[in-house]
Amino acid sequence: MISQKMKKMIATSSAIREMFEEGKRLAEIYGKENVFDFSLGNPSVKPPQSVNQSIKDIVDETSEIELHGYMNNSGFSSTRAAVAGYFNKRYGTTYGEKNVVMTVGAAGGLNVVLKSLLNEGDEVVVFCPYFGEYRNYIDNYGGKIVEVPANPPTFLPDLDVTEKLLTSKTKAVIVNSPNNPTGVVYDKEFLTGLVSTLDRAQKKWGNAIYLISDEPYREIVYGDAKVEFLPSLYDNTIVGYSYSKSLSLPGERIGYLLIPDTCTDFEELIASCNVATRILGFVNAPSLQQKLVERCVEETCDITPYSDNKNILTEGLKKLGFEYVNPQGAFYLFVKSPIEDDKEFCRIAKEYNLLLVPGSSFGCKGYVRIAYCVSKDTVVGSMTQFEKLAKRMNLI
Ligand code: PLP
Repeated sequence: MISQKMKKMIATSSAIREMFEEGKRLAEIYGKENVFDFSLGNPSVKPPQSVNQSIKDIVDETSEIELHGYMNNSGFSSTRAAVAGYFNKRYGTTYGEKNVVMTVGAAGGLNVVLKSLLNEGDEVVVFCPYFGEYRNYIDNYGGKIVEVPANPPTFLPDLDVTEKLLTSKTKAVIVNSPNNPTGVVYDKEFLTGLVSTLDRAQKKWGNAIYLISDEPYREIVYGDAKVEFLPSLYDNTIVGYSYSKSLSLPGERIGYLLIPDTCTDFEELIASCNVATRILGFVNAPSLQQKLVERCVEETCDITPYSDNKNILTEGLKKLGFEYVNPQGAFYLFVKSPIEDDKEFCRIAKEYNLLLVPGSSFGCKGYVRIAYCVSKDTVVGSMTQFEKLAKRMNLI
């Protein structure tokens, strides 16, 4: 008999994954080209050329024992130094390998940091809409999720509301910019306000509040949008990063945590992340991928295809009368559901072979998410289906 807790989790298991499975089922019935699967953030852009070449070179050039062996739980020193060097070059910081813990993607990093920080009942504040898995990650360690309601149309969280939700039990706040699912990039003015709010709460309660910046989309930004470097604004920032999206390697499971010396209890926090990596069963991040990061630390995918998809979708949907948040980054479009019930809207969209994810999965009813990290053909082909959907919804 499985645990009661897992029984519940299976029942509420991710709507995104369900849609993804549904996409595969529909593709078998109608043909792949007639199904427009916008459900999963699975990048369609190829990794940069240097990625595949580096993997071959690493295999040829590295001794088997070094490449395939166990290592420090935080990762290879040389890889961590390369990541620290990347920040130092980009932001003029003085990080070293001690500040970096290599992780099994952003998901692994978040679990390591939450395992390290949370006592039973500690609160973690998240801003709606948010990546739904945060709920499970926080729950994994007995934490309590505290949701700041969505603040449309800008989707910049309301700081007065946030301040009221910070308590003596608040251990961390998670921010995700560029945001999944809205594509919003938090500007400096908002972030300055947020960190002042956190500073006041830290003083009021006499506790450290860690700001966990979940940044898998940091390199995917459009136009003049700028992703701020949060450790320069707030001492207790922990950055979580992943190469899943920026190098199109989600299946390879590689990322890192950057923990600046300025974080409260820095030494203990690093030691704890090291142990958490081991005892959560990761032991260490995948060794070949760490070696890859070391060689490709400054590389990113070409994001032009995402930008093109975004433009086709936003222009097309606007003409059809849909309302949405204009994305500044990531590869998601958050569209207002023309009817109140976003789940019902997704069900209707599916009748037109359009697979969308309800906003409720991200803690924000009344919206749906379109993941446009798909081929251009899928986006272009979907427009006639969106037109039919718009007619059914009486938008045109
Ligand atoms: N955080 C956010 C906001 C995400 O969108 C995702 C994946 O889609 C993750 C974390 C997990 O990323 P990874 O595949 O690197 O574990």
